Amino acid sequence: MNASSHAVQVLGKTVKLPRCGVVRMREELRFAGRVLGATVSRTADGWYVALAVETEERLKAAEDRGAVGVDLGIRTLATFSDGSGAPALKPHRAEHKRIVRLSRSLSCKQKGSANRAKAKAKLARLHLRIANVRKDALHKLTTTLATKYSTIGIEDLNVSGMLKNGRLARAIADAGFFEFRRQLEYKAAMTGAQVIVIDRFYPSSKTCSGCGAIHAITLSERVIECGCGLKMDRDLNAAINIRRQALAQHSVERKALADASATVKPASVKQKKSALHRNVQAA
Ligand SMILES: [Zn+2]
Repeated sequence: MNASSHAVQVLGKTVKLPRCGVVRMREELRFAGRVLGATVSRTADGWYVALAVETEERLKAAEDRGAVGVDLGIRTLATFSDGSGAPALKPHRAEHKRIVRLSRSLSCKQKGSANRAKAKAKLARLHLRIANVRKDALHKLTTTLATKYSTIGIEDLNVSGMLKNGRLARAIADAGFFEFRRQLEYKAAMTGAQVIVIDRFYPSSKTCSGCGAIHAITLSERVIECGCGLKMDRDLNAAINIRRQALAQHSVERKALADASATVKPASVKQKKSALHRNVQAA
């Protein structure tokens, strides 16, 4: 249901909707501004109202304008090249048992019965809660990145390839890589930060970040050790390499832009710019 602005009024924890009247909300509206409209939806037995607000609030521009490399993983959700990061995000695995139990109890309930409907709603609520926890953690992570750094190097994970491996599939879906990249890209556009997706074939985990030597490191090895004396957590080593590779790609792009603007008429530079940007993103 869509409602136009004059019909929707928000006052504290209540919202006045056309046809419904005044409805209580679980929390107050977090943004100040003119309410443009409302959309009511129903998910897992709960009613939700999405309010469109015209507001001046937006993400602040990136703070220190520095560059960071981000290694996404399963044991640790994200490791940054400066040593910070975000812990693992595996609510699904933690609650997998509950899901299995609820699904089983659902399947032995008689079709069309009230008990079946109840079990179904319970399962749906659990799925929704898990999804919300995951989304919240990812939002915190992507906001941190987009507001703290001006250049953010990330890997182009060949997720579709990895999903073929059944055992990895759930963990990857849990970690929400797709959602991570989607959020990061739209937030970076708001703060003016640049997301650089590094080359898919760049061996970020196998390269020593100290001397550049390539090692045959297996997935189970958590520490990389190199003849040059480097001994480091594998995710941190990868993040440092990702940062360096992102900066290298970034300077190649800038050089290409400079060359293009030197030889092309100013009117065409803009076009060239966006084309180049796309190439770098797709690489
Ligand atoms: Zn080395």
